[in-house]
Amino acid sequence: MSHFLEFCRAREAWLIEAIERLACSESPSFDKAAVDRCGHELVGCLTELGARVETVARSTVGDIVVADFGGGPRQLLLLGHCDTVWPVGTLAEMPVTRRDGRLFGPGVFDMKAGLAIAMLAACATAQRGLVEQTRLRLLITTDEEIGSGASRSLIEREARASLAVLVFEPSLSGGALKTRRKGVGEFVIDVQGVAAHAGVDPGAGVSAVSELAHQVIAAQRLADPARGTTLNVGIIEGGSRVNVVAEHARAVVDVRVTTAAEAERMSRALAGLTPTLAGARVTVRGGFNRPPMERGPHIAALVATASEAASELGLTLTEGSTGGASDGNFTAALGIPTLDGLGALGGGAHARHEHVVLDALVPRAALAAGLIARVVRA
Ligand SMILES: [Zn+2]
Repeated sequence: MSHFLEFCRAREAWLIEAIERLACSESPSFDKAAVDRCGHELVGCLTELGARVETVARSTVGDIVVADFGGGPRQLLLLGHCDTVWPVGTLAEMPVTRRDGRLFGPGVFDMKAGLAIAMLAACATAQRGLVEQTRLRLLITTDEEIGSGASRSLIEREARASLAVLVFEPSLSGGALKTRRKGVGEFVIDVQGVAAHAGVDPGAGVSAVSELAHQVIAAQRLADPARGTTLNVGIIEGGSRVNVVAEHARAVVDVRVTTAAEAERMSRALAGLTPTLAGARVTVRGGFNRPPMERGPHIAALVATASEAASELGLTLTEGSTGGASDGNFTAALGIPTLDGLGALGGGAHARHEHVVLDALVPRAALAAGLIARVVRA
């Protein structure tokens, strides 16, 4: 048996209890006090494992947790987030429960189990004396589910100082790694019309609602599903009263792309939308808040390394793509070798049946430890 498997197997109870402890501390992104309580639990877990832990203060979201194992001139970054999409009180209807070989609860899959796996894997490699030349730095952010506005610059700075970035977001089905992620853009199409009485003087008005209808169709035509570029007009609103020609209307649009070139094309095309009705004004704001993760050679090399670590454990590693973005999008777009989806096996992220597979936790931690060992020895 691999020494990492043995090490992690001996700490299986700690691993599962750490996930339960983190999941029992609810941490919705917008509730700083709650997220900071979860951060306190994280500091406790990391200290138990021998890490040096610091927190980086944030005023509107939870404080970021930074923990180091080992030292030396080089750094390997292990990245995750402790915020979830579940409001405080969810535990009353969705308690943390072990059932049928699974652990259920809010945030267990996305991504509290991933955090516990990363912590144990880092500890396992530190115990083997592999971190004298390379510091393992865990960076645990608190606003990933709301776009990472308060952590992006820190993530990018730490990534630039690292050999590679391992992201412990949940795996795809069967434990597959995430080697391609779409980039995400959010745009607002604002339309300014001219108000008028709908009965007395309709000809004097320019309907912002009618103009917006044209813009919605025009925007949807920009999508190119064959290239993976999709566009969803998720929100429209406008008008004031039924008997008034609408003066204002707006649409909020979600755009997903697989390449930087498509992000550029969509940004330009949306910015170039022009009014159809004489007298209407169209303004487009917004942009891409996460660039796409493209599977370049920097990602392929890490996949090969992870596959070696997996075969040592008798596992076969697969990979796939997802339309969802993560903080790994930022680091991959910088050209830093990045591997995402190293977290738990399970299902139901952001859904009522969110769970992780208990039996897979130890092999996953051993896999991460084997991968870390290979990266730091290289
Ligand atoms: Zn996540």
